[in-house]
Parts: sequence; structure tokens; C-alpha cells
Amino acid sequence: MPDAVRTPSLLECCAAAIGAVSGAVQPRRPDERFLRAISDAGLPNARRTVTVTSLAQTPRSVPTAAVVEGRFSPLRITNSLTSFVIQHPDATFIVDPGYCVDADHRALAQLPRLLRMAVRPPSDTIPTIAALLAEPDLPAPDFALPTHAHWDHVCGLLDLPGIPVHLHSTEHNWISRGTVAPVGGVRDSLKDRPLVEYDLDGPPVLTFTRSHDLFSDGSIVLVDLAGHTPGSIGILAHTRRGWILLAGDAAWHSLQIDEIRQKASFPGNFADVDRDLTFKSLHRLHLARHFATIIPTHDHDATRRLATRAEQDEP
Ligand SMILES: [Zn+2]
Repeated sequence: MPDAVRTPSLLECCAAAIGAVSGAVQPRRPDERFLRAISDAGLPNARRTVTVTSLAQTPRSVPTAAVVEGRFSPLRITNSLTSFVIQHPDATFIVDPGYCVDADHRALAQLPRLLRMAVRPPSDTIPTIAALLAEPDLPAPDFALPTHAHWDHVCGLLDLPGIPVHLHSTEHNWISRGTVAPVGGVRDSLKDRPLVEYDLDGPPVLTFTRSHDLFSDGSIVLVDLAGHTPGSIGILAHTRRGWILLAGDAAWHSLQIDEIRQKASFPGNFADVDRDLTFKSLHRLHLARHFATIIPTHDHDATRRLATRAEQDEP
């Protein structure tokens, strides 16, 4: 039996509905003063390079205004539940193993009904394990590194039994504390496997205040993107073609980063644990975009830039 899961109150549902209407008319304005106060600590001094590959995934067309507050053009954009494989000279790891076989029963069933309807992916969404097996040239991952503990970033672990998970200690504490889970579809995925906790105890990097150098060589640096969840992180990767920042769900689409637009209140209110902090992280990403190619996990078009050549050539 999975643990009980917190359900949104009627008040929270009303606030999301009202916020969705008012945000469509008058989106939240960027905080110019905060933007000016953000300092840039520069890029890490990387001694090695890595390869970042996005795995195949089926896109879903969604109204732009349901993702990017107050934005109506283009009318629709695509999103998807993409996973990434990062190859470092010392290890290969999978980022955001986000979709399991039979996700309807194993993960989505634990979400509140309202949210389930809003986030249900297309029926032909590719489970992470299938997308991995379709890339025989990639080494098998040694561990998994989710950007945060939401069902659509971890439930693919259910088909990868025993694989160790590296998780930010703040995130682990948030998701595992108490008998009622803060969100559904996550605890089962983290159960019965080795867990390696880390802290963001390293110095500021770029526009982010804290970091963790995963291999102590500057090639993969995890940065603080708290807000969407308490322990959300971004993964700054030094590739031969430049710096890439996998941004998880700090933004759902690059348009949000370019224009500093928060997620629409529905479903954003239910997705972001702290809307104000998420908005601040968005400001930090906005400035960092000049130094790294930022890839939100669900921005389908952005993720395709990291697809293998064979997959990019497919119609
Ligand atoms: Zn999320």
C-alpha cells in the first residue's frame, strides 16, 4: 500500500483558479530590483568534459498560456517527460528517469484527481527503461540523479531496480518526512535502493548561490534552484560544445526563462511548493542563459537539441 498523499484544500483550488484568470490578463512582472541585485560568480573551472544525451520521448501539445503565464503566442507549445544520460569519464548517470511502465497505476493514481487530469501524458509516452534500451550505444547508467522528487522525474526508477539514486539532502528530507507524503508517486520509486545524499555546500556558481561539484573536476556542478520543490537543483554540465544547464522544473519552457514569466497558476500553484522562491530562481536562470544553454526538462524542443543524431533525423 503506498503512503497517503496530501490533497490540495478547496481554498488552494479556488486560489489557483482565480490566479489563472488574473495571471492570463496581467502576468506577474519581473522584479527589476532583485534582478539587479543578483551577482555573477562565473563559470566553474572545468578540467574535463561530459556528453549529455536526451532520450527519445513523445511530445504533447499544450496551450502556451497554461504553461507560460499571460503568453498566448504561439498558441501552443510542446512538452514531454524527457530523461537525459550524462557520460563522464568516471561514470554514466541518468537524469530525471521520469516515466515508468504502467504509470497510470503505479504513479499517476497517487495524484489528486484534478492534477491527474491536467498532467496526464499521451498514451504513447515512452517509459524511461524503453528509451534507454533504444540507445544501445550508451553505457548502462551507474546511478540516477533526479533534479527533484516529483513523480515525473523519478517514477522511471521503478523499472530500474537497485540503481543508486543521488538526492539533495533537503529534497530527501522533504519527500520522506511524515506519514503523509507531500506529493504522490515518489516514495515508492525511492524505496529499497541505495541512496546517496549530497548537500549544496560549495561556493556560488554563475548566478546561483550554492553548488556541489559532483566529480570534483568542475565538469558537473549541481546548483541551487529551490522553489519548485525545497531541494530542486540544476545540473551544469561542461560539454565539448559548451555549457549546458539542465534546469528541471524551475521552468517548464524556455519562454519562461527568456521573458521571466512564471507558470500559469493552474497547474503551477499545485506544482511549485514556493511560488515566490520559484520566481526568484527564474530570475537567476534568466541571467545565466547568457553563459549556458538552459534546458528545462519538459521543454520538448529544447531537449531535442541534445538528442542523438539518429533520433534527430527521424521525422
Ligand atoms: Zn516537478
